[in-house]
Formats: sequence, structure tokens, C-alpha cells
Amino acid sequence: MEIGFIGLGNMGFPMARRLIEAGHQLVVFDQRKEAVERLVALGAQAASSPKDVADRTETVLASLPSLQASLEVATGTDGVIEGRRVRRFVDLSTVGSHMAVRIHDLLAKHNLVQLDSPVSGGVGGAEKGTLAVMVSGPRADFETVKPALDVIGKVFFIGEKPGSAQTMKLANNLLSATAVVATSEAVVMGVKSGLDPAVMIDVINAGSGMNTASRDKFPRAILPRSFDYGFATGLMVKDVRLCLEEAKSLGLSMEVAEAVGRLWEVVIREMGAESDFTSAIKPIEKAAGVVVGGKAAHAAK
Ligand code: NAD
Repeated sequence: MEIGFIGLGNMGFPMARRLIEAGHQLVVFDQRKEAVERLVALGAQAASSPKDVADRTETVLASLPSLQASLEVATGTDGVIEGRRVRRFVDLSTVGSHMAVRIHDLLAKHNLVQLDSPVSGGVGGAEKGTLAVMVSGPRADFETVKPALDVIGKVFFIGEKPGSAQTMKLANNLLSATAVVATSEAVVMGVKSGLDPAVMIDVINAGSGMNTASRDKFPRAILPRSFDYGFATGLMVKDVRLCLEEAKSLGLSMEVAEAVGRLWEVVIREMGAESDFTSAIKPIEKAAGVVVGGKAAHAAK
């Protein structure tokens, strides 16, 4: 299938590479020329703008870092909306249901279909094709793109209502965000009292406290203190804020989510938006006066 792909970052690049490896013909665009060149070397064709992608393909996928980027790429000047050939825009980014509906409505005026298709499972999942892919939009268009989405992960049809896959994704990411800071607090507490953090993580993973942070993030990026999991703090905070807005617009008060949101605001203030989201443990360590993992952990004991 001919596929357009816009946004070749941490997630977009490995997803696009998998699509090429599966035999699809890709037309790609990113603001960063080097990302485009790396995919052209793998067999993709380069485009000069989102419109150019949409002039050349019926199905355009996007994996972009902000709500504004998705809005501009989809509906701005030189955007997908101006393309001659395009029929559907598949947004793999996390933008929240309100922005998804806004993009849906603007595209609908030009008879273009929008499929929300946020993904979960991180860079590792994008590389291995094991993401959870949540899709909402017209069923017929979903069926058309499903063979391509099957290449990047396990595909779930959430419903036809625009934005509903985004709500699903925000519920998922609230739990992911909670796991990182809650596990950080628990491990910091243990280290403060003299426990070995590596033993703690082994126990938690064999016990009922096991979660995605203890299973994946601590062993991979926190205990070795590499802080290179591949998801920026700014993106995690975007998702937590979107989730809190979503809850508010539904008239809900979510006590745990609000506490988690406050902690992530501290993380972005102290560590910066570009830091890896596994750095969330650092302000918690600082407040406790301990360091978890690595050589420093032993020094701190
Ligand atoms: P990223 O910042 O690594 O990549 C974004 C890419 O989009 C970059 O290559 C950038 O140059 C490009 N870009 C930005 N604005 C553009 C524009 N106007 N036109 C063309 N290209 C543009 O971000 P990422 O980590 O790959 O995340 C992408 C999306 O996937 C986000 O919505 C994020 O929330 C979501 N997501 C990320 C992860 C993860 O683990 N990284 C997991 C699940 C979902």
C-alpha cells in the first residue's frame, strides 16, 4: 500500500521503517532533513511538505510532538488538507480528544476522513511492532488502513466517535505516568531507609507492586542511571495535562490524577521538557537526599 508518513522522530522513524520492511511504499516528510534522508536510504521517497505527501498518497500517517504540530500539519497552509490525492489522515500522535475533534471537523469540511490512532508501548514497542494501537473513526477507513497498522502493533478499534481513541490513550498514559512517579517514591523511601534498590525492584516485580515502571523503566534507564528511555518529559507532561483537562471537561474530580499532575509539573520545572521522562525520579531523590541505583547508590548508603 502507498502510505504517506509525517514526523520521523523517536516513534515515527521506527514505525515508518517497519512499514517499509513490510513492503509498503512510503512517501515521508519531517522538518529534520536528516531523518528524511535516513528513511530514503531505506527505500522511502522524500516529500517537501505535508501537502506534497498528501498530493502523492491517499493515506497519510503522522507522529508529531505537539497539538499545534498535528493541527498545522493536518490543516495549516501547505498541510495535508490541501493535498490532491489524500483521502484520510491517520494521527498516531497523542493530542487529546478536543484537538482530535477540532482536526476532524476541519478535515471533514474538505471531505477528508480523520482516524485517531494514538499508540502506546514506547520506542521499544515501535521498533518491535508491539505497540497498542487505538483507533477511532469511520469503520470502513479503519478496515482500509488496518493492514498497515497491524505492522506497528496490536490494533484495537475503539469506536466511530471522533476523539474516543484519544480518551483511551489518556487513560492509559495516566497509569503510565503514575507508575513512574509512584514507583520512584516507593523506591526512594526504601533507599532512604537503607534498602538496595535493585533488590527492591526484583521483589516488586515478583510481587503485587509490579507495574510498567518497575518492569521496564527502572531496569532499563533508572537503576543504571542512563535516563535514556526515549520519551521526553515534555511529552509525558503534555499527556498528563490533557488527561486532567479531559477529566475536567467531563465534570470529574480525579484525586490521584491531580496529585500525579502536580508531581509531573515539578519534574518539568526542575528537569526541563527535553529530559527523558525517567528523570522524574531525580526531584524525588533530591527532596529525600538519596540517589537510587548506579555507583552513586552505594556511595549514598
Ligand atoms: P519526537 O519529538 O521524537 O518526534 C517528533 C518528530 O516530528 C520530529 O522528528 C520532528 O522533527 C517532527 N516534527 C515536528 N513538527 C513537525 C512539523 N510541523 N512538520 C513535520 N515534522 C515535524 O516525538 P516522539 O517521541 O516520536 O512522539 C511523537 C508522538 O507520539 C507524540 O504525540 C507522543 O506523545 C507520542 N508517543 C510517544 C511515545 C514515546 O515513547 N516516545 C510513546 C507513545 C506515544
